[in-house]
Amino acid sequence: KDEGGNCFRFFQPAMTTYMTRRIKLEQELRQALADPSQLRLFYQPKVDLGSGSIIGVEALLRWHHPEEGMISPMEFIPIAEDSGLILDLGDWVLVQALEQLSRWQREGVAIGMAINVSVKQLLHRDLCDRILALSQQQDIAPDAVQLEITETHIMNDMGRIIAALCALDKAGFTLAIDDFGTGHSSLSRLRDLPVKVLKIDKSFVKNAMRDKKEAQIVKAIIDMGHSLDKTIIAEGIETQEQMQLLTELGCDEGQGYLFARPMPVEELDLLLRQNAQY
Ligand code: C2E
Ligand code: CA
Ligand code: CA
Ligand code: CA
Repeated sequence: KDEGGNCFRFFQPAMTTYMTRRIKLEQELRQALADPSQLRLFYQPKVDLGSGSIIGVEALLRWHHPEEGMISPMEFIPIAEDSGLILDLGDWVLVQALEQLSRWQREGVAIGMAINVSVKQLLHRDLCDRILALSQQQDIAPDAVQLEITETHIMNDMGRIIAALCALDKAGFTLAIDDFGTGHSSLSRLRDLPVKVLKIDKSFVKNAMRDKKEAQIVKAIIDMGHSLDKTIIAEGIETQEQMQLLTELGCDEGQGYLFARPMPVEELDLLLRQNAQY
């Protein structure tokens, strides 16, 4: 009991601060959704490692908090997921990203749009109909839309998730597994998923340079992915050496600060107009 008391006294202040902040951010995120001028999408190019051209972008959500400035999605996305706000937030992202994609298509810019989708959103029965309706409204070809779903979450509720993924695949959207390698996808499960793209997590990209064994693991992922007809993209490429190594290992596409950081649409438009090659 004495010890318990000590532990309690020790942990309580930190826990309270943490909970208070979460509750505060949740309320403020709710307000931000009512006044989305605080929210913005940034876009990060995806590069074809063979040709060096930009073939697509990933939409990444930014929250400009009125007092705190930029708050990282690493902090507010989990809060949005726990509170259920992710459904409205995710819908806002879909609308914005598809509107932008439609603008590019009208301007004759041929790039794909990758959108992060949380599993909560995926398991909400309306997602596929909603994306289809938005795509039809905006006259978007579904295969230009890539949906990224994080690996660790995919393996949790496989039955329902496979059903949701199959509906999206049937509708013509491209599906990608994000942070690949950090979860526990077995080969047989991977074969059963209607997923076209594997995105190798940036932790592998970092370690592959320092550690031969880690580079072999990356090679195994790439070879295995190719044997299952998947496209392989690596995220978090920051150096020329990392790009060279991944290209040698057979990786198809890359993304990372070496090429470009996530940026507002005006900057990306400039980059696209310059016909940037890497
Ligand atoms: P993610 O989907 O794995 O996105 C990659 C993260 O790595 C992004 O962080 C990106 O800015 C960052 N990054 C890109 N290139 C590099 C690099 O070369 N080096 C390093 N160290 N990092 C790089 P960001 O934008 O802070 O997003 C963090 C996470 O928040 C995302 O991870 C994703 O899981 C989530 N997220 C962001 N936007 C959305 C969204 O619209 N919906 C959902 N559900 N999740 C989102
Ligand atoms: Ca992603
Ligand atoms: Ca990642
Ligand atoms: Ca992630």
